[in-house]
Amino acid sequence: MYELDSTDLQFLPGMGPKRAAMLNTEVDIHTFRDLLYYFPYKYIDRSKIYTISEITSAVPYIQLKGKIISYKLIGEGRAQRLSARFIDSTGEIELIWFQKIKFIPDQYKVGNEYILFGKPSFFGQKVSIVHPELDKLDGAVGKVVGGLSPYYNTTEKMKNNYLNSKAIQKLMVGLFEKVSFPIAETLPAYLLTQLNLMNLTEALRNIHFPKNNQLLEQARYRMKFEELLYIQLDIVRKKKHRHQKLQGYKFTKVGKPFNDFYKNNLPFELTGAQKRVIKEIYADMCSGHQMNRLLQGDVGSGKTLVALLCMLLALGNDFQACIMAPTEILATQHYETMKKQLEGLNIRVELLTGSTKKKDRVPLLEDLKTGKIHILVGTHALLEESVQFNNLGLVVIDEQHRFGVVQRAKLWRKNEQFPHVLVMTATPIPRTLAMTVYGDLEVSVIDELPPGRKPIRTMHVFDGKRGQLMDFVRKEISLGRQIYIVYPLIQESEKVDLKCLEEGYNQIKEIFKDVEVGMVHGKLKPKDKDAEMERFKNAETKILVATTVIEVGVNVPNASVMIIENAERFGLAQLHQLRGRVGRGCDQSYCILVTSPKLGEDGRKRMDIMVNSTDGFEIAEADMKLRGFGDIDGTQQSGESFNFRIANIARDGQLLEYTRGIAEKILEKDPELKSEVNGILSRNLQKMAVGKGNWGLIS
Ligand code: ADP
Ligand code: MG
Repeated sequence: MYELDSTDLQFLPGMGPKRAAMLNTEVDIHTFRDLLYYFPYKYIDRSKIYTISEITSAVPYIQLKGKIISYKLIGEGRAQRLSARFIDSTGEIELIWFQKIKFIPDQYKVGNEYILFGKPSFFGQKVSIVHPELDKLDGAVGKVVGGLSPYYNTTEKMKNNYLNSKAIQKLMVGLFEKVSFPIAETLPAYLLTQLNLMNLTEALRNIHFPKNNQLLEQARYRMKFEELLYIQLDIVRKKKHRHQKLQGYKFTKVGKPFNDFYKNNLPFELTGAQKRVIKEIYADMCSGHQMNRLLQGDVGSGKTLVALLCMLLALGNDFQACIMAPTEILATQHYETMKKQLEGLNIRVELLTGSTKKKDRVPLLEDLKTGKIHILVGTHALLEESVQFNNLGLVVIDEQHRFGVVQRAKLWRKNEQFPHVLVMTATPIPRTLAMTVYGDLEVSVIDELPPGRKPIRTMHVFDGKRGQLMDFVRKEISLGRQIYIVYPLIQESEKVDLKCLEEGYNQIKEIFKDVEVGMVHGKLKPKDKDAEMERFKNAETKILVATTVIEVGVNVPNASVMIIENAERFGLAQLHQLRGRVGRGCDQSYCILVTSPKLGEDGRKRMDIMVNSTDGFEIAEADMKLRGFGDIDGTQQSGESFNFRIANIARDGQLLEYTRGIAEKILEKDPELKSEVNGILSRNLQKMAVGKGNWGLIS
């Protein structure tokens, strides 16, 4: 019998040294155990045979029974392909081969009956299948018990060496004959019984050789559960450790700055959600532990005011505070807003960005170090070595997804003791993602918009309708409102992008001869950019033609129309951000998504989501489902992501939350997993080395 971890892979029947080496290098399979855990990525039900007349686009793969009646070569040279007519009693389809053209007609003879399996594509009424699988009628049906046929991922190189999905399936058959069962269980017995989970051996067997749909589902559930549970155990445990180890500044009072501001300077009544999150944050800062909290709130939900109030809490406890924003425009805007709101309170706020002049910078840094500056607002410039605080108690990071992990970590190393950290984001991080990648942060959510906001109306128009669109813009301007027109960044060439933008700008000026039009983009000097923004803010310009530099945080309440050109080029989260630039005042606002009429199905779906939902969380979830995991802002920058073997956090969100709860319960009873029943968990946690990154310090 073979040992899962120690017998050399090449001794498996049908394997040999060459294939073993290829599995090593191509898909990281080194041991029998690795192979056993190499799960199919899909299953196809081959129990049903369809007729040609039943083919619809709703069935992605199809199995047919019929004959090839003729072959024909089409095209020449490298573009040559082989086409065949395939019929059953209900109709005809085309089969196409691009490879091994010469051998096909010998292998699959005209007139014989075959079971055909493949993925139909549609050209109008015509159906074709490229590179179908064909099996002689006898023996093809019922080859796989229950008709569920597993499919394994393979690379191009593997396929070229005949190590395709079918070959792997054969290796699995050998593996299951040679390995001694049962395989040592990886979950504690009490969990299996209490939660009614399939045991490991059964689960593995059914994943590779499903007896039927129901058993397959149970098997997949068990393996997903296990995968997610271990990740959550790891995260929850690290979080507990961090809590115990990392002391934080203990705030003891609300203090005068907060109270004075609240009494005399508060610009609006806080929303219930704002009040609630401030309480959550305050409780954290009073706990004696270092706060590491993520504040999520949809665009326009009023995060800035929350940040200011929290900074005042720090001031009231004799600490300094700072807020870092991703762009100069945004930092400047925060600085101006806060300065105005703090008038008369004897609190010194300063701005530090890349364009702060040396002659201003030197005294500013001096005053920061001696504690004369209370609140520092800035950009990345805050991270520089020369920026030293007297006693930094709270760091606020706005639009956190824009900063990398390392950058963020730098900020709080500015003290001997870590200051409290509040990261804010309007890019709603789907709950499931927050629980894995950001699983170690506390999360507060502002789930309420300030009163009086009218929901933004979103429309999708094709770019042929420009005339009507411009009439609409003119009407809004005549009502005193302002308009954004945003062009996409097509990263291939900044020059081309700029040209698009400039052309758009000139067109708009041509159409609106009597209206002031401004333009901002990333290539402008910060000074010019700010001046241009300032003009728009003061309503000196009525239309602002821009790139996505205005995506984040910009606040001009009088702007009521956001037109997004080539909207299909933006991600959903980005569209939502851009849309959030309007709807900030009390006027009815509009977001108009302009696309080409030649829009793919995916593009159309995304426009539909935008038109039908204004809920950032819903949009983020939908975005994640459409794009899959790994594309979300922030995780890319973090340079790490979880590699899931079987779970999918876009789809298995509920199970993820469930396992989080279970992990918490287990660790509550047995924090170090020392009890005998949990020994298995403790050992596997070490072995599996889940969460190699130190998620504890991700913020
Ligand atoms: P975001 O959460 O997107 O950063 P902001 O902090 O920029 O949102 O706030 C959006 C707008 O709402 C700003 O004009 C701000 O002054 C205003 N605002 C914030 N809180 C309230 C409130 N409680 N009532 C009314 N308006 C508010
Ligand atoms: Mg903001």
